[in-house]
Amino acid sequence: MKVITDERCTQYRAVGHPERPARISASVTRLKSQEEVAIDWVKPAEVSREQIVRAHTDGHYATVKVAEEAFDGDTPAYPDIYNHACRATGSALRGLELARKGETVFSLIRPPGHHATTKRAMGFCYFNSVAITALEALATGAKKVAVFDFDVHHGNGTEAILLDKPNTRFYSIHQYPCYRKVLERALEQLGRSKPDVLVVSAGFDAYARDPLAQETLEAEDFQWLGESIRKLGVTTVNCLEGGYSNDLPDLILAYLRGLNGH
Ligand SMILES: [Zn+2]
Repeated sequence: MKVITDERCTQYRAVGHPERPARISASVTRLKSQEEVAIDWVKPAEVSREQIVRAHTDGHYATVKVAEEAFDGDTPAYPDIYNHACRATGSALRGLELARKGETVFSLIRPPGHHATTKRAMGFCYFNSVAITALEALATGAKKVAVFDFDVHHGNGTEAILLDKPNTRFYSIHQYPCYRKVLERALEQLGRSKPDVLVVSAGFDAYARDPLAQETLEAEDFQWLGESIRKLGVTTVNCLEGGYSNDLPDLILAYLRGLNGH
C-alpha cells in the first residue's frame, strides 16, 4: 500500500474551520502506529499548469495563484494556498502513476478538491484533484475513466468539469436515505461500465458522528467500501476529500484495510 502525503499540507489553518491540519497529522500518526496494513510513504508528483487547465479555466488558475481575498465563507485565501492546492493535485497524480504500476494507493492530503468547479474555488476546495487526475488518465492512454464520489456532499465541481467530457462517468452519492444500498447500486453499475481507470473521491463525512452531516455509516462500512472497490479489480486512485470527525484516522484505516483485502 502506497500512501501519498506531504507534511506541508498541515501548514495552513483558520480558527474554528473544520477542514483543519489535524485531519492529516492525526491520520498520519495513526497509520504509522499500526501494523495491520504495511505502508510505503510517498511524496506528491510535480503538477504542471497544462494538467490543471484541462479541468479549470485560465482565469481560475490565475486567481488561485495570486489569491488574496476569500473565495467564499468556507474557502479562505490562505497564504500559499496555490502551492498547497498544487501539492494536493500532485498527490493524486502520483497516485495515478503508482496505480498504473499495480499499486494500491491512497492520497492523504489537504485541501480537498471535489467542490472546485471549472472556474470557482468553493467548499474548502481550490483545484479539483480528482477531475484533473481523471483527465490526465484520458490524456495519457485511458479509454474510459470513472469517478466514484462517496463523500456525503455532492461532488458538484467534479460533475461540472466532467459533464461534457467524453469517455468519463461520474457517480456521486450524497446525503440520501439508505446510503449503503445506493452505494451498492452505484458500485454495481460502475463495475459493469468497466473503466480503465477509477478515481475515488473518498470522503468520510457520511460517518455517523461527523459534525458536518447527518448520515449513519460506521467504520466497518468504510472497510466494506474499500473491499468493494478492491473487488472491482480496476486501476484505482483513492483521494481523501471530506471527513471532519476526530475519528477520521480510524475511518481511513478501516478503508485501507478493505482496500488491502483484510
Ligand atoms: Zn463532504
